[in-house]
Amino acid sequence: MAQESNNSWNPEQYYKVSRWGEGYFDIDRDGHMVVYPHSRQKGSSIKISEIIEELQSQKVQLPVILRFQDILRSQVDKLNNSFLNAIKKNNYAGTYTGVFPIKVNQMRKVVEEVVDAGAKFNYGLEAGSKAELLAVLVYNKNKDSLTVLNGCKDEDYLRLAMIGTKMGRRCVIVIENFHEVKEIIRLSKEMDVAPMIGLRARLSAKSRGKWAGSSGDKAKFGITISEILNTVELLKEHGMEQQLKLFHFHIGSQIADILVFKEAIAEAARIFAQLNKMGLQLQYFDVGGGLAVDYDGSQSKNDSSRNYRLTEYAADIVSTLQRICDEEGVAHPNIVSESGRAITAHHSCIITNVVDIIKPCCEEFDTRSTKGENHLVTQLRQTENLLNENNFQECFHEARSAREDSTNAFKLGVLSLTERAKAETIYGRIITKINTYLQENSFVPEELQNLDEQLACQYLCNFSVFQSAPDIWAIDQVLPIMPLDRLREEPLVTCTLADISCDSDGKIDHFIAEQGTGRSLKLHELDDKPYYLGLFLTGAYQDVMGDMHNLFGRLNEVHILDDRKKSGAFIIEKIIHGSTAADVLTFMQYDPKQMTDKVRENLLKQVSNGNINPHEAEEFTGFYEKCLQDTTYLKKGENHV
Ligand code: PLP
Repeated sequence: MAQESNNSWNPEQYYKVSRWGEGYFDIDRDGHMVVYPHSRQKGSSIKISEIIEELQSQKVQLPVILRFQDILRSQVDKLNNSFLNAIKKNNYAGTYTGVFPIKVNQMRKVVEEVVDAGAKFNYGLEAGSKAELLAVLVYNKNKDSLTVLNGCKDEDYLRLAMIGTKMGRRCVIVIENFHEVKEIIRLSKEMDVAPMIGLRARLSAKSRGKWAGSSGDKAKFGITISEILNTVELLKEHGMEQQLKLFHFHIGSQIADILVFKEAIAEAARIFAQLNKMGLQLQYFDVGGGLAVDYDGSQSKNDSSRNYRLTEYAADIVSTLQRICDEEGVAHPNIVSESGRAITAHHSCIITNVVDIIKPCCEEFDTRSTKGENHLVTQLRQTENLLNENNFQECFHEARSAREDSTNAFKLGVLSLTERAKAETIYGRIITKINTYLQENSFVPEELQNLDEQLACQYLCNFSVFQSAPDIWAIDQVLPIMPLDRLREEPLVTCTLADISCDSDGKIDHFIAEQGTGRSLKLHELDDKPYYLGLFLTGAYQDVMGDMHNLFGRLNEVHILDDRKKSGAFIIEKIIHGSTAADVLTFMQYDPKQMTDKVRENLLKQVSNGNINPHEAEEFTGFYEKCLQDTTYLKKGENHV
């Protein structure tokens, strides 16, 4: 049933769209979630539920990934322009020549779009593995941009990097471990290549948060100051020290606090300057990634937020580097950054539909008293009858102790199964009622403060956390999650979300809340219409790190472009169909054809035994085959046109 709209209800205050949306998302006057692919200042908006309707008319099933390529392009522009503006404002002598680390989202369309949007800025690519290197050698065609090569390297990796140099690419092999130096020297001689070499320093400046392990003394990557000096000596012995072109550090992803950056840049700039004063000619200062995304919209030092803007970040890097280079009397280097998350997070979102509701307690059990009923059940019923807005705390104590006693009584064989069911149902009604009193009270006693969360319903959503939002499961990442419609109507149901995987970890119980983050989310009561939820800012890492737990495969993916000719219109540029059951089974080394043959064989045996008729055998085999070619997700709770 639709709730009455409440004048004091403000969806923006609750879901904080303008805080995390970066001008790309908003709620329209009628309560629909809209996207501005070119940001609000520059273009018109598209209603997301209209995209879903169009997809349904084309029989594209949920869940689906929506990819807005215009947002990707816009973020590339923003990053580059922020650095170029800061450089101009400060009269900084170097330039900015950033690279996109493809690890954050290796999808070919994403990489192509970033390269294309970045061409005018000579924006390059970064690879962190051999397979990524194979891709960047082909997709970074701009000979004036950098191709930065990080990560663990074997001989093949280094050979490919040298071949990249021969292909005319500006490949920089970044030394992450001291043992890589000798191999680089040997191969450069053998292949007659003068590679550009980078040094990744292990700074003492330490980041905080979920990726703190990327920095400090125990970091996996980067070389210490003494190793840097030994590297320089070794390269000198082979006349290769002038190949050292780039100084690099990366202190972790999602750096929430700008002070951490300031500290790291100051330390790194000193090392850089001193190395150049020793006679090196390092031309690039690479600050790595770490530029954070404000997932929870709190603009704070929270792990899922950031307390700075892109303009402040760029300005701080430029001005700190400039100050230290000037103090040390060395030339201003070109600045490189490897921002990934900030480039891709906003451009994609996952749309799922709620397929069911799991309530914390049963409301429909007959709890009327019966003759000879256990006194604990009677006691709970009396508490329920006495309960009012003045005595709810006392009744809470009564109910809790009677419920505990009834559970123990059941274990001792004193309480019957039916009586236990009655006790639980009455207890559920009591605490639900207490919770309604609490909503009306300005003061909530401490012991009752999380009652609302205890009573949260679980909305069962048609997706898998493990496939589509693995960081929620792995590191308790907060993503903005909200309904696509009914946003002018106050949501009154306190919820958490459960996915359709057979795993109790497949849930979401950490959300943006009115104050910071909370363990539940307010959603609308379900009615007979489909209820769509969007998981936003999933374009960084989530898009590509998911696994096939429970054999839920890749989602259908849709590329949307703003139709510039008509306000509010959109173009579906491409639909990439997600995995079928046969696809995921094949990936796990099954043979779907053989499996179908086995099912047919078995059913034909049942025909010979007289258990089913031949027509049924054919029909069941056909159905099995059809399911193999179908989605791995539920075909439920959608408006199929
Ligand atoms: N560069 C390096 C070396 C990294 O390891 C990473 C990821 O952690 C990045 C860049 C991208 O970082 P972010 O996505 O935080 O910008």
